[in-house]
Amino acid sequence: MLDKYKREINYLRVSVTDRCNLRCIYCMPKEGLSLIGHDDILKYEEMLRVVRIAQKLGIVKVRVTGGEPLVRRGVTDFLAELGKTGLEDISLTTNGILLESFAGAIRRAGVCRINVSLDSLDPERYARITRGGRLSDVLRGLEEAERVGFSPIKINVVTVRGFNDDEALTFARLTLEKPYEIRLIELMPIGGEKGSDEKYVSNDELMERIARLGTLHPIERGKRERNFSGPARRFRLEGARGVIGFISPISHNFCHACNRLRLTADGGLRACLMVDGEIDLKGPMRSGCSDEELEQLILRAIVNKPLGQQKDGAADDRHRRKCVREMPTIGG
Ligand code: SAM
Ligand code: SF4
Repeated sequence: MLDKYKREINYLRVSVTDRCNLRCIYCMPKEGLSLIGHDDILKYEEMLRVVRIAQKLGIVKVRVTGGEPLVRRGVTDFLAELGKTGLEDISLTTNGILLESFAGAIRRAGVCRINVSLDSLDPERYARITRGGRLSDVLRGLEEAERVGFSPIKINVVTVRGFNDDEALTFARLTLEKPYEIRLIELMPIGGEKGSDEKYVSNDELMERIARLGTLHPIERGKRERNFSGPARRFRLEGARGVIGFISPISHNFCHACNRLRLTADGGLRACLMVDGEIDLKGPMRSGCSDEELEQLILRAIVNKPLGQQKDGAADDRHRRKCVREMPTIGG
């Protein structure tokens, strides 16, 4: 299904919960987080209904996210149900804290790919950036994910100046020995400590630093790969087993090629991460709307999907545009 800017919308991100077992500094406020009431969180059946109807409109890929998806009870059963819908690709983003015990079940449920968020390889720093997380839990989770056969495993690293940007090199070096795809993500002005523009570090700067380690060979992608590996610019360091991806929503925004819709944990269908405005699906579903009516609502979100952060003004935009919703509700 094409939107009015001729973008093919085929990817839905589903936030199954706004709850999380961590409190990353860039994602959640230190305190005063307003959680969605339990009754207002979409039930799994409601999420599955949205997915099935969205499939009719061309959605072929779903990513399950949150909050932390693994803290919601019943998530592996939900993933298994999702696996029966005939989607081409089901993926999951997790902070990895509970991954050691869930990896096998997630894989059996039919999840094709996982992304694990990990911003530091230093235990103390990791605890600070996540406000209390234990690095060893994530490392065990990664090992287990590898053991049960996830491949490739992608690691999301959000870089925060003065906090972990010096670790970009450490993560890059990790690709020399491990077959991971390290994805360096630019900090976005959404969630957490808003107004932290001085903490932003551009991927161009990181790429320059990493290039001093060795030649970065660009990885060409076919159409299918472009569809499934999203907006990352990907490189392999000379002789490396793994890959380094640069995801640069601020310095090189990819709005012109954005293929995503987002289903928030409380049932809003959101066509753009950075432009507020959602279509409520929960209300109509709970008032007994028909599948045809639901389809029309989803169609409206697709057709009216905004262009996003405008043109070449991305760097300026980040000062102006602050998303009013919290990241965990929307799902990143
Ligand atoms: N809890 C899971 C996790 O951390 O992977 C899934 C949800 S989290 C909101 C999804 C992704 O969004 C994570 O990779 C996280 O690092 C990223 N994220 C959260 N806040 C961000 C921000 N302000 N800028 C850039 N990425 C952010
Ligand atoms: Fe939780 Fe993920 Fe947000 Fe960190 S980034 S607070 S793990 S939802």
